[in-house]
Amino acid sequence: MTTIVWFRQDLRLADNPALFEAAAKGPVLPVFILEDPERSGERHPMGGASNWWLHHSLKALAKSLGGLLLLRGDARVAIPALAHETGATAVHWNRCYEPHAVERDTEIKAELKQQGIEVNSYNASLLHEPWELETKSGGPFKVYSPFWRAALQEPVADPLPRPEKLVIADLPNTGEQIDDLDLLPRSPNWAEGWEDLWQPGEEGAMKRLQDFLADGLEGYGELRNRPDLPNVSRLSPHLHFGEISPRQIRHETNSVEDAEPALKKDGAKFISEIGWREFSYHLLYHFPTLPHDNFKPSFDAYPWRASETDLRAWQRGETGYPIVDAGMRELWKTGYMHNRVRMIVASFLVKHLRLDWRHGEAWFRDTLVDADLANNSASWQWVAGSGADAAPYFRIFNPMSQGAKFDPDGAYVRQWVPELAGLDDAYIHAPFDAPDKALIKAGVTLGKTYPHPIVEHFAARDAALEGYEAVKRGGEAAA
Ligand code: FAD
Repeated sequence: MTTIVWFRQDLRLADNPALFEAAAKGPVLPVFILEDPERSGERHPMGGASNWWLHHSLKALAKSLGGLLLLRGDARVAIPALAHETGATAVHWNRCYEPHAVERDTEIKAELKQQGIEVNSYNASLLHEPWELETKSGGPFKVYSPFWRAALQEPVADPLPRPEKLVIADLPNTGEQIDDLDLLPRSPNWAEGWEDLWQPGEEGAMKRLQDFLADGLEGYGELRNRPDLPNVSRLSPHLHFGEISPRQIRHETNSVEDAEPALKKDGAKFISEIGWREFSYHLLYHFPTLPHDNFKPSFDAYPWRASETDLRAWQRGETGYPIVDAGMRELWKTGYMHNRVRMIVASFLVKHLRLDWRHGEAWFRDTLVDADLANNSASWQWVAGSGADAAPYFRIFNPMSQGAKFDPDGAYVRQWVPELAGLDDAYIHAPFDAPDKALIKAGVTLGKTYPHPIVEHFAARDAALEGYEAVKRGGEAAA
C-alpha cells in the first residue's frame, strides 16, 4: 500500500500535509521531478540562482527523509509511469498555483484517477487558498488592504508536526544522482561563497526564522526599510521552496508575541508582509496572465524604450546611481536584494530608463534565490504602475533621496560599491554632485573608477511622466 509523495515547492517534513497523510497510511515513496521547462510548457522558468538553491535543498530533504527518488523529465509521463511501475495505490502532493502547474496537475490527476489510483492534494504553502477569499460582491480581490482584512477574519490551521512514523519504500533504481541534475553553476562558479550566506533546507529555514524572531523582529515595522540593518527575515527563498510554511511562521511569531506582548505590533507587520505574498498568489491564481501581460491594459500604450546598453548597465550595477548599483551588485553577489532596494532599482529600470518591466522581471527571475513567479510578477507590475493596487505611476523614486533616507550613513552603498567607500556621507548617494576636492580625496574619478550617471534624474523623470500621458490617453479612449 505504498503512497507516492510528489515533492515540488514543499521541501520539508514538518507541516507537510501530503507527507503527513501518506505516512499515516503506510510506506512512502518520495519523489522529486526536475522538469524541462520547454517541454512542460513553463513560459517563465526560474533561473540559475534558484537552481543553486534547489540543489542544496534537495540534498537536505533527501537526508532528512532517508531517501528521495530524483527523476528528470515530464511529470505528466513520469508520475503515472512511476505509479504503474511500483504498484503504488495513491499519489499525494501539495498544491502549486502557477498557471502551468495548475494545468499540469489537473491533467495528471485525471490520468491517475482513470488508472484507479487515489490522488490527494493539499494546501501547504498558503494561509488561505486563493479561492477561499472573495470580495463582498463575489470575485477575486484586486486591492491588498481589503484582501488582508478579509484574510485576518478567517481561521488558520495550526501547523502539523513531522510524521511520527515514516517508512520509506524501496526506491526504484531508475533515479538520478543529485549531481547529475546539473543544477550548480560550473564555469564560472558565480555562486562561490553562497554556502556561507545561506543554509538551504528545512533546518536552515527554521534557524533563520528563530534568529530573526530573536534579533530582528523588534523594530521590524520601521527598520524593515533599512538595507543597512539586519531587520528583515531573509526567509523568502526558504518560503519559495517550501522549506518552511507560512502557517509555521505565523505560529512561531504568535508564540513570541505571547511571551513578549510589546512585539505584537512588529509581529503583525511581519505577518502582513506574508500577507503580500498571499495577495500575489491570489492575483496569479485568478489572473494567470500576470507574469506577461499588463494587469492594466492601458499600459499597453506605454512607449517603452529599447536599449541593450542601458539594460546591461542596470544589470551590472553600473548606472552611476550608487543605491541602484549597490542593489544590483548585492543581487549578483548573493542572490538576494533588500525589498526597499528592489523597489528603487525596479523603479529606476521602468521609469528612469523606460525599459519594459518584463526585462526586469526576467533578470530577477534568473538571479534571485527567492525568484517566485507570483511575488516577482506582482511586484514588478506594482512598481511599474501597471499592476493591481499598484504604486501610482507618478511616484518616481528619487535614487538620491531614497538612498539618503534609507541608507543614511551610506553603509549599504559602501559595502556593495567599494570604489565609493572613501566618499563623505554628503556625497555617497550622489558622487556626481561632489566637488573635485572630495572626489580626489576619496580616490574617485567619475567615468573611470565609477560611471557617470547614465541618465539625468530630472530629465528622466520628465520623460517618464510624458510617456505616462500615452497610458492616460489609452485609458481615456477605453473608458
Ligand atoms: P521580510 O521583510 O522578512 O518578509 C517576510 C516574507 O514576506 C518574505 O520572505 C516574503 O515571502 C513576504 N514578502 C515580503 N515583502 C513582500 C512583497 N512586497 N511582496 C510579496 N511578498 C512579500 N519576493 C519573492 O519572494 N520573490 C520574488 O521573486 C520577488 N521579486 C520582487 C521583485 C520586485 C521588483 C520587488 C519590489 C519585490 C519582490 N519581492 C519578491 C518581494 C520582496 O522584495 C521579497 O519578498 C523580500 O524582500 C524578501 O526578503 P525577506 O524574506 O527578508 O522579507
